[in-house]
Amino acid sequence: MSDRTLAGKTALVTGSTSGIGLGIAKVLAKQGANIILNGFGDIEGPKAEISALGVQVAYHGADMSKAADIEAMMTFAATTLGGVDILVNNAGIQHVASVQDFPVERWDAIIAINLTSAFHTTRLALPYMQKTNWGRIINIASVHGLVGSAQKSAYVAAKHGIVGLTKVTALENATTGVTCNAICPGWVLTPLVQKQIDAKAATLKISNDEAVKLLLGEKEPSLQFTTPEELGELATFFCSPAGNNIRGVAWNMDGGWAAQ
Ligand code: NAD
Repeated sequence: MSDRTLAGKTALVTGSTSGIGLGIAKVLAKQGANIILNGFGDIEGPKAEISALGVQVAYHGADMSKAADIEAMMTFAATTLGGVDILVNNAGIQHVASVQDFPVERWDAIIAINLTSAFHTTRLALPYMQKTNWGRIINIASVHGLVGSAQKSAYVAAKHGIVGLTKVTALENATTGVTCNAICPGWVLTPLVQKQIDAKAATLKISNDEAVKLLLGEKEPSLQFTTPEELGELATFFCSPAGNNIRGVAWNMDGGWAAQ
C-alpha cells in the first residue's frame, strides 16, 4: 500500500501500549494518521515510537472498564486532535477457568473491557463520524468471536458480542461513509498469549518452545502466529477507498483455525 494514505486522519486505538494495539497504531501512523494511544504500563516508549513516524501522538490513560473514563478520553480526543476518524477497539484481557470456577469479578471485568468499552467508544465516536460522513470503526474481536474454546467462557461471550455489535453498527450506518468491521485473529504472540504459553509450560513441565508448538498445533493449521503488523495492514485496508463498501464483516486472520 502506498505511503501516507491516512494523512490528516486521527486514529484512536484502545489498549495500544503493547501487543496488537501498538502494532496497529504503528502501521496506521506509517500511513500518516495521527494517533491517540491508550492503555497501561510504559507510555513513553510507545509514544516515542509513534512520534518517530512523523505524526502527532497523544495519550489518554482511560480505564476501559469505566464509562466515565471513556467519556473523558473521547472529549480529550476531540479537543486534542480534532475528533476521531478511525476508532480501533482493541483493549482486551483474558482469564482461563471452567464456567463453574470462573471468578465473578473476572467475568465482569472481561465483559466490561472486551465488550462494553466498545459500545461506549462507538456511541461517542459516531456523531463526529456521521457529521463528517467518513469514519472507520474496527473492532479487534478474535477467532473466539466465531468459535468457542473450553475454559474461555467470558472471553468467547465478549468476542461473540463484539461481532454482533459490529454488525448492528455497520447496518445503522450502511448508507453513510462510516463503516464498521471486525478483525478476528487467531494466535498472536503478545503478552496476553505469552501468559498462556507460560502456564502450559509450567503445568506440563515443558520448555517454552515445546509449549508454543503445542499451543499452535492444537488450533492453528498454519502453525504460525499472526503478527500485529499483518493485523495493522488489514486495518489499513479497511481504511482505504477499497474498504468503502465492506460493512459488518468479521474477517478472520487465523491461519485456518475457523476453517476446520
Ligand atoms: P496485550 O495484553 O499485549 O495488550 C492489551 C492492551 O490492553 C495493553 O495495552 C493493556 O494496557 C490494555 N488494557 C488492558 N486492560 C485495560 C483497561 N482496563 N483499560 C485500558 N487498557 C487496558 O494483549 P493483545 O494480545 O495485544 O490483545 C489485544 C486485543 O487483541 C484484545 O482484545 C485481545 O482479545 C485480542 N486478540 C488477541 C489475540 C492474541 O493471540 N494475542 C488473538 C485474538 C484477539
